[in-house]
Amino acid sequence: MSKDHQVKAKKHLGQHFLNDESIAEKIANSLSFKGYNHVLEIGPGMGVLTKYLLKKDVTTHVIEIDTESVEYLKNNYLTLANRVIEQDFLKYNLNQVFKNEPFAIIGNYPYNISSQIVFKTLEMRDQIPEFSGMFQKEVAQRICSKEGSKVYGILSVLTQAFYDAEYLFTVHPTVFNPPPKVDSGVLLLKRKENYVLSCNENLLFKVVKTAFQQRRKTLRNSLKTLNLSDNLREDSIFGMRPEQLSVSQFIELTILIENDINN
Ligand code: SAH
Repeated sequence: MSKDHQVKAKKHLGQHFLNDESIAEKIANSLSFKGYNHVLEIGPGMGVLTKYLLKKDVTTHVIEIDTESVEYLKNNYLTLANRVIEQDFLKYNLNQVFKNEPFAIIGNYPYNISSQIVFKTLEMRDQIPEFSGMFQKEVAQRICSKEGSKVYGILSVLTQAFYDAEYLFTVHPTVFNPPPKVDSGVLLLKRKENYVLSCNENLLFKVVKTAFQQRRKTLRNSLKTLNLSDNLREDSIFGMRPEQLSVSQFIELTILIENDINN
């Protein structure tokens, strides 16, 4: 394939190539590049963002599922060639490359797997001090939203338990080829100084997911399946709906539940 051959966008891979250089540069500049030596870009496509990362004082790695894009990258970014991982981000064991060292994650993400990308990041939070990039606007807003907001949900609570989340800016469909049907939003996650929680972390995930499965109901009703004591369920916090609880209240709730289960 010749060097200049452009990758044909494939819908099933969520391919929408960004064609605005200044936005690509702005996204690349959203990371601090401090406190880690490696950056992993998910879904580089034809490398619009990658070329700005390559100018930074870190080692850039990319993971891309599309063979045609991988070929393009290897042909056009010679210095990157050994650091192109041709794999599905969701399935690949990243420590084959990172060997337990810290790294940041960045990307103009494939929107069809955006929640899974965030969940995998949360699982690997010990190694990921920073994360930034572009999602469907709604998803980016949801991740950053606070209690009381209509879009506050599982992703908001679990992400913000470990990371400070900041919505940076909105990107309109016209700067992509092909244009997506929705607006996009860029966000930045910075891991908290103390991100080890005072509650059982697995139980927090379970409580948050169970509560938001029925977001209109009070916790008294939605958490029935956890078999809690009547005594605990009398606590006033159980009269609240999940969207009213702050992250720290979810952590307090998890501690209450933990103690109840252990007694
Ligand atoms: N960053 C490029 C492309 C964005 S489109 C740009 O801004 O122009 C999203 C990219 O993610 C595509 O290149 C697609 O092939 C890739 N992709 C989709 N699913 C993936 C997965 N599971 N793992 C790795 N890359 C994936």
